[in-house]
Amino acid sequence: MLVKQLHKHHPTIPKNSPLYSIYQKVNNKERIGEDEALTLFQSHNILEVGIIANLVNQRFNQNKVYYILNGHINYSNVCAIQCSFCSFSTKRGDHNAYEMSLEDVKNKFTTFNQDEIREIHMVGGLHPDMPFSYYEDMIQTIKTMNPRVTVKAFTAVEIAHFADLFNMSLEDIFEKLGDKGLEALPGGGAEIFSEKIRRKICPTKISGDQWLEVHRIAHRSGIKSNATMLFGHIETYEDRIDHLKRLRDLQDQTHGFLTFIPLTYHPEHNPLRSNRTSVLDELKTVAVSRIFLDNFPHIKAYWVMLGIKVAQLALSFGADDLDGTVKEEKIYHAAGAESPQMLSKSDLIDLITECRKIPVQRDSFYNEIQS
Ligand code: SF4
Repeated sequence: MLVKQLHKHHPTIPKNSPLYSIYQKVNNKERIGEDEALTLFQSHNILEVGIIANLVNQRFNQNKVYYILNGHINYSNVCAIQCSFCSFSTKRGDHNAYEMSLEDVKNKFTTFNQDEIREIHMVGGLHPDMPFSYYEDMIQTIKTMNPRVTVKAFTAVEIAHFADLFNMSLEDIFEKLGDKGLEALPGGGAEIFSEKIRRKICPTKISGDQWLEVHRIAHRSGIKSNATMLFGHIETYEDRIDHLKRLRDLQDQTHGFLTFIPLTYHPEHNPLRSNRTSVLDELKTVAVSRIFLDNFPHIKAYWVMLGIKVAQLALSFGADDLDGTVKEEKIYHAAGAESPQMLSKSDLIDLITECRKIPVQRDSFYNEIQS
């Protein structure tokens, strides 16, 4: 019923609705401010918020929903710091600590279907003493084995860690890794930019400003990236809006972000909070992000984090991308994500067509792939 109404040809909002002025503004392609974003977050009318989000999404993506045939490699879970929401990291010597050798990376990569795969998403903990050549060699190995695959690797947090550990400038790092074949950065590690919240959930991680600076330099070096926001823990609506505003400001300057990915906090095996936020809050966060980030072409409903059903619903609340096959995700499953470890291409196509949307296979940069 709810989805049906959102799919009505041109659903509108009644003139007496508290959201009508925002609807009109968005309909006129005007940018909304932080106060208006707060009004949207505080609204109990999720359907109307979804209608406004769909206006923006239709403008960018019509009825298309993107997916990619991708795989994950988490090269090590050994991490020099401990964020309180993280269920993945270990210390060296822990019974479950692991470090993949180059040979392990090669073997892992050969488990993916080489005719189909288009992207490797590669991230890990902040390893205390692997040499810089380890990271260069991992990228080069994958690119040599299958040059068609885009390597999207290392969050801003890992890149800042390399800069520290190897005493290199960000520009140097991107030049060296770019020479080996690094083409894009994932959006992880952003969490919530608010310093007050960061002090509580990840006090030893880089600051929000540093995260933004790494992406600024990446964009300047010709490397595109994604952005995330971890929500549903101890942050307020104002914190979420501040996060979105800082991303929107940087995107105005660089135009280097491809997609924004709101990530639901998962509570298992970490000490931060004991329950997951509501589905309504998740949908509203997708929708408000879509409306506020009017300079981001894509909003991703990452099925691993949202779960398949909520990700499908999010396609009616402004999202236009389900991510991909994701073989095989470790980080969020360690925190209790109940989604499967992977989906097939036909699963993704079915999930999208069930929502009356048009499935479009893409590469990492949203070029359409005919299959
Ligand atoms: S979130 Fe990243 S940086 Fe923080 S503890 Fe986990 S692996 Fe380490």
